[in-house]
Amino acid sequence: MVIDKNSVDWNGEADTAVCPICGSPETALVIPHTQDHITGDAFQIVRCKTCLVAFTFPQPSSFDRFYPDLYRGYTSITKFLLRTLYRLRVRKWLKMFVEPGSVLEVGCGPGFMLDVFRKNGWKVLGTERTVIASKYAREHLGLPVILGGIEQVSDESRFDLVVMFQVLEHMQQPLNTLKECARRLKPGGILLVNVPNFSSWQSEFGGALWVHLDAPRHLFHFTPRSLAGLLEVVGMEVCHVQFTSVAHDPYGWAQTIVNKFTRPFNLLTRYLMGMEKLTIKVVFSLLLCIVLMPASILLALASWVFQKGAVMEVTALRPKMKAMS
Ligand SMILES: [Zn+2]
Repeated sequence: MVIDKNSVDWNGEADTAVCPICGSPETALVIPHTQDHITGDAFQIVRCKTCLVAFTFPQPSSFDRFYPDLYRGYTSITKFLLRTLYRLRVRKWLKMFVEPGSVLEVGCGPGFMLDVFRKNGWKVLGTERTVIASKYAREHLGLPVILGGIEQVSDESRFDLVVMFQVLEHMQQPLNTLKECARRLKPGGILLVNVPNFSSWQSEFGGALWVHLDAPRHLFHFTPRSLAGLLEVVGMEVCHVQFTSVAHDPYGWAQTIVNKFTRPFNLLTRYLMGMEKLTIKVVFSLLLCIVLMPASILLALASWVFQKGAVMEVTALRPKMKAMS
């Protein structure tokens, strides 16, 4: 094992990587070395042979160093683009319902999605871990946001829809989180889980340098099969999986290809997230991404056709008649 034990707080020995989800010691090393682009710390990606979920190893016992205050402090242009794409995504989700209902978004961040739901007559509630991350949602948009995890949402609450968008991979106990989500759904309610796809072409090409790997903030790395397995455990029925993300695929290809040739990696992404000043290197990365964009769009389109997109969105139903575990 090549982990630098002094570089990170950790919960166990590298040679005894036990699955944090099912506790199985039967694991396989998938990526021997990946470096955090924020702290420089080294991690490995290990797959559990029992539940099939891959996880970041070692798992940090404290996350403060890995989430600087500027994390996702997007630039104005990034905010505008994300907001536009999120609006389109929510409009697509709304088509699943005949009338407005109630929605809970776990990890709602700036609240762009909840804002669209509210404008369409929905009753909305969000959760977010920190005051800073939820500031825009609470103060600018005036959205109801509970500080904390889903456990802080009343046990008695029942929603028509629970959304977890690019959130589950950050959770320390994803199975428990899914269980708590399922419990707060009405019978017949829908759970939408959107996560990076660890079995995507982009992931296979990028390996340790895949822009959406993002260890150790991404503690778990799901495939359609492993996520469906967890949803089944919590009594949810997977209805649909789709792999199309205009926000993640073309850009993800361009940044991942650039990562293969330039250092430091994820430079343009860091700039767009407000973590990097505009330097010559950033401009060079931007130009490379622009040059690579036509090829990246073609790769994205092909990956969507073959269900190998960089991001997957699972729609799961809480059955009407089945008792929840
Ligand atoms: Zn496992």
